[in-house]
Amino acid sequence: MNAMLRDTTLLPIWEKIQRGERLTLEDGLTLYRTGDVIGLGKMAHEVQKARSGDAVYFVLNQKIEHTNVCVLSCKFCDFAAKKGDARAYEMTSAEILARISPDIKEVHITGGMPPDWPWERYLDIVETIHRHLPDADVKAFTAVEIDFFHRKFRLSVEEILRQLKAAGVRTMPGGGAEIFSERVRKELFPQKIGAREWLAVHKAAHRLGIPTNSTMLYGHIETLEERLVHMITLREAQDETGGFLTFIPLAFQPGETGIKPRHRFTSAVDDLRTIAVSRLMLDNIPHIKAYWVMLTEEVAAVALNFGADDMDGTVGGEKIAHDAGALSPHALKKEQIVRIIRDAGKIPVERDVYYNPLILHADHVVGKIPYLNSIPFYAHLVVPDAKILPVVPRRMGMLSAKGMMDAGLFSLMDYLAQEDRLEPLGFGLASRDQIKSVMLFSKEGWQGLEGKRIGIMDDTATSVQLLRILLENRYHVHAVLDRLHGGVNDLRDFDAVLLIGDEALTRNKCGLPGFDLVYDLACEWYTWQKLPFVFAVWAVQRHLDAERKAALRNAIESALEAGESDFVSIAGAHGRRIGLTDTETHEYLAGFNFRLGEREWDSVHAFRALQGPELARVRELNAASAKPETRNP
Ligand code: SF4
Repeated sequence: MNAMLRDTTLLPIWEKIQRGERLTLEDGLTLYRTGDVIGLGKMAHEVQKARSGDAVYFVLNQKIEHTNVCVLSCKFCDFAAKKGDARAYEMTSAEILARISPDIKEVHITGGMPPDWPWERYLDIVETIHRHLPDADVKAFTAVEIDFFHRKFRLSVEEILRQLKAAGVRTMPGGGAEIFSERVRKELFPQKIGAREWLAVHKAAHRLGIPTNSTMLYGHIETLEERLVHMITLREAQDETGGFLTFIPLAFQPGETGIKPRHRFTSAVDDLRTIAVSRLMLDNIPHIKAYWVMLTEEVAAVALNFGADDMDGTVGGEKIAHDAGALSPHALKKEQIVRIIRDAGKIPVERDVYYNPLILHADHVVGKIPYLNSIPFYAHLVVPDAKILPVVPRRMGMLSAKGMMDAGLFSLMDYLAQEDRLEPLGFGLASRDQIKSVMLFSKEGWQGLEGKRIGIMDDTATSVQLLRILLENRYHVHAVLDRLHGGVNDLRDFDAVLLIGDEALTRNKCGLPGFDLVYDLACEWYTWQKLPFVFAVWAVQRHLDAERKAALRNAIESALEAGESDFVSIAGAHGRRIGLTDTETHEYLAGFNFRLGEREWDSVHAFRALQGPELARVRELNAASAKPETRNP
């Protein structure tokens, strides 16, 4: 990479990124001002690939702008109208429902803020969609609207969000953030909420288990420094709650608003720089979206190699950007999006509102567990003709059941549930004794957990099942296991919490306030069974030809040999990003056995023998997800 950077001022920034260090505002300015736009793009693309592999996400979505009547008059807005204007419209729940086709997976609701709608009308919109179209997730109402509801209906922000969640809201859009600058707010939208209120609403949503998006409106009167302050403010909020799913740079559409620079859309280079800079600055936000509606399809397509890993979706019914003169079409067909993503050399991944992959539009996909412990396999892995998809273990099992995945490092439960179709390759993730990344943080000792509520990260069924077996078969305790939406829950209601992967490693080091007892589940298994625990098994679809299987086995063996020779050089940056020293990263990875021998298979058989109905449930879930018309749970 270093040789590919023409601008030498980018080198120290690239080295910082490789060391897992955070970029500063000054670094951001250097990135924005470099003349080496291609070098900037390559840096962002490398970071994107490390996160998302070859995946680019999209969703079958429908925009609903339920009304354009608005009590505010933001200077840059071409969409809003006053009640009684010829342009004004207000939709009923039935009219909204009639617009949504049954294949839609995400309904995105935002609009004006009319003076006379009762609170129940908003709830009715959400409930109606949720009731009639249970396969479609509702993403509804910006922080500006939530704040408006809070003032108008005299309900707390938390109560508004609670009622919307109960009605069927799954996530919130990121609109209304504009740019976090009081100078710009006073100039362009003085009546609108500022950064403090916008962030307060989003943090409240995260605490209630409602993940949200984040945005930045750029290309009007803001400075580069203001753009970077905006990104850093979002980064700090994400450190606090972890609830942002994606960041969407929104290119300003000047329309008839008269805001300088008159009649100028952002340039393609500015758009690409902004995508790349945001990928590099926002090291803790999982996804960066190339919103083709505002960028145009052409710029969005290039952005997929400049750090973006999400193309939004088919976006039927969009009005706000088009009223402001957006040059893009009003909707794209699924086939068009798939072609754009394939032409960029990526895997088109149809997703749900939480970024769970539903359908992969590609052949020969190999799954990658996105945790530190799998890096020794993947750092040097090159499989001929195959693309790599990072995906949490639970989803890998579902995609395999759908026949969409050639091979992967499968969670043990998913491997056991699909033993008839998956052939083990001799590699996996097994503990030597303790591993520190499948941890139970508890307020009580094991016996004290009888009847108590345990929050579980269910990214992998194996860790949950190991916990259940330890509780019921070793300690004879029955507890209630409730799913956590990773990183976004308030943990105060739980008596214990099962964390896995990087989250567990970080919490194990820093502690989880209020949960003083910490149990390493691999260690518990080892003490009980005198066997290492096998968390994951590398396996390939049995029906593939022998040549492809052999190529895969050889590729894994070579990658592992290279990976095992120096854990710190391949995984140090990842470790530092989650707060581990290089020594801790080395010790952690040295605690795994990556090849499965006799003792590991004895452990697999012992675990299989202890299965209750859970293995059948995993089989059922995988089978249900294999039906195209069935929604993922
Ligand atoms: S931007 Fe939103 S809040 Fe402002 S006038 Fe337009 S619809 Fe109303």
